[in-house]
Amino acid sequence: MNSKVHQGHKARKRFGQNFLHDDYVIDQIVDAIHPSDDYTMVEIGPGLGALTVPVCEQISRLNVVELDRDLAARLATHPFIKDKLNIHQADAMKFDFATLLEPGKKMKIFGNLPYNISTQLMFHLFEFAALVEDMHFMLQKEVVNRLAAGPGSKAYGRLSVMAQYYCQVVPVLEVGPEAFRPAPKVESAVVKLLPYASPPFPAKDIGCLARIAADAFGQRRKTIRNSLQHLFSADRLTELGLDPSARPEQLTLAQYVTLANALAQQKE
Ligand code: SAM
Repeated sequence: MNSKVHQGHKARKRFGQNFLHDDYVIDQIVDAIHPSDDYTMVEIGPGLGALTVPVCEQISRLNVVELDRDLAARLATHPFIKDKLNIHQADAMKFDFATLLEPGKKMKIFGNLPYNISTQLMFHLFEFAALVEDMHFMLQKEVVNRLAAGPGSKAYGRLSVMAQYYCQVVPVLEVGPEAFRPAPKVESAVVKLLPYASPPFPAKDIGCLARIAADAFGQRRKTIRNSLQHLFSADRLTELGLDPSARPEQLTLAQYVTLANALAQQKE
């Protein structure tokens, strides 16, 4: 059997298509999602419906955002779930998730995401964090490690700082390649992201935090005195309670926010 063909559909590599077929893993993910009509439910990349079908068994309406025209069309005629779906044939990276929100509800977003765009998609989704109750995503395990990493760890970087600014990050489950068809070359993991009602370390200007994290981690091996010299003098770093000879992976989220707020003040 051609391992790239699943349920009569030939997996498209450019869309990061690896279809889940392990019932145990699917059950675990659906349990973690806790589908409910109390929320606006949203799935990114429903594909052939591995998660879509069991989620629809528990709720009456599900929004799905699927880029692949053929798969969106298949879902539109799916015998069991077509009447419960609002299908958006669109690119999730450009999609305005706020348009889906129903009055008085928050969103639950989930998906087994295409790994080729997962990091970029995370940054896009953080913009909607205030509207979201929780998010559950299957990602490359390495990306889950980066989301959850703390200072001092090799995996700690821009993605960790931005994710942890908005959300509590909870790794849920590790999943091997054999759970998918075709099997990806990498290990996978499911992560739960719980947006804070208000961030523990509020930034005056989120753009400043994004810029500082990008500039600091863009030159990981340099001290912050060097990588941030275009923004702060060594004296100013010291004044802010930071060691200018520290490297970006040594700074906590609170320290990144301190820098971001100092930058925002400089711009005023
Ligand atoms: N949910 C299915 C499953 O678990 O078997 C499919 C998962 S597959 C890893 C990723 C899905 O995301 C595919 O259906 C793919 O077509 C879709 N996809 C890829 N890029 C996308 C994008 N930019 N926006 C929305 N969907 C996308």
